[in-house]
Amino acid sequence: MSQHTGYARVAFNFALSSFKVGLDKDEWRDYREIKREFNAVKREKFPWCSELSQNASKNAIHNLGDAVTRWKKGQNNFPVYKRRDGKCSYQADNGQGTVDVYKKRINLPKIGWIRMREELQWTGEITKVVVSKHNGKWYASITVRRLDSNNYKHQPLLFDDSKQPIGIDVGINTLATCSDGTTHENPRPLKRYERKLQRANRALSRKVYQSKNWYKAKKVLSNVHYRIACIREDAHHQVSTTIVRKASAIGIETLNISGLLKNRTLAKALSDSALSRFLRMLKYKAERRGIPITQADQFFASSKTCSNCGHKKKYLMLSDRVYNCLKCGFTCDRDLNAAINLCPTPT
Ligand SMILES: [Zn+2]
Repeated sequence: MSQHTGYARVAFNFALSSFKVGLDKDEWRDYREIKREFNAVKREKFPWCSELSQNASKNAIHNLGDAVTRWKKGQNNFPVYKRRDGKCSYQADNGQGTVDVYKKRINLPKIGWIRMREELQWTGEITKVVVSKHNGKWYASITVRRLDSNNYKHQPLLFDDSKQPIGIDVGINTLATCSDGTTHENPRPLKRYERKLQRANRALSRKVYQSKNWYKAKKVLSNVHYRIACIREDAHHQVSTTIVRKASAIGIETLNISGLLKNRTLAKALSDSALSRFLRMLKYKAERRGIPITQADQFFASSKTCSNCGHKKKYLMLSDRVYNCLKCGFTCDRDLNAAINLCPTPT
């Protein structure tokens, strides 16, 4: 699998440099063209690739094609070369139904049947398999076209009295404040593991680059990073599922993250809490259940507006934790006030 990810990287970088050469000559090289070019020279340039599945290189070049098309549309930045020490993954399939999964086993091309930790949860046709490595463990992301997928989406909402529209204000200390008064704390693992991270970083910097001890220290460091990521993801999944389960409609805000990240004291805390990913989770979970989700305009002043009378304050400091309305005398927790403002009105 390592060899295959390496092959995918080589093919991707080959395609990227070929594409760049094309750009210099003011021509747009199609990925099919690049694939032909690659296939013509691969046996000579990369003789080791004959032992590997050609799906790895094929799909990598397809990915490059996707990346440059999206770049042209302004959807992402120009692709960069993949690094040997970067993320490693490859797409193993050769189109729909070319990889078999049987119980706790998967049959990867050129590799054969290998054991998996768990069974595939869904039945249907396997359309895509991406093998990747995270923190020394191998994962297979398997895309399945479910036979019952039409019934899965857009289920009619069952009428349920216990469900109500909920507005959610996300924040750094409190991950989510709901308009029904419940709050969910943010675990902020980076803060908790900061010292551990520092120590691991320092240990790594003292080792001789690429020596045996350097790799050991690197493993320790990446374990800390992995742990942090897991804690964060787990908390986000739990909170978003809890909220979505009790809501009949959901209202969220649009974060101006890039603007907030310019504030240096906030930047670290913000990237630690990964709020935009949390909002994305809420969105897809709501969509899956057929719960309408409304996202407030980016310039909607959810914090400054009074949820009781609609009066909008001109100035509100980040340190003001309690909202006091000057017009109607309404007093309320700042985040709760914002959550109520974001709550979708029942129709
Ligand atoms: Zn008011």
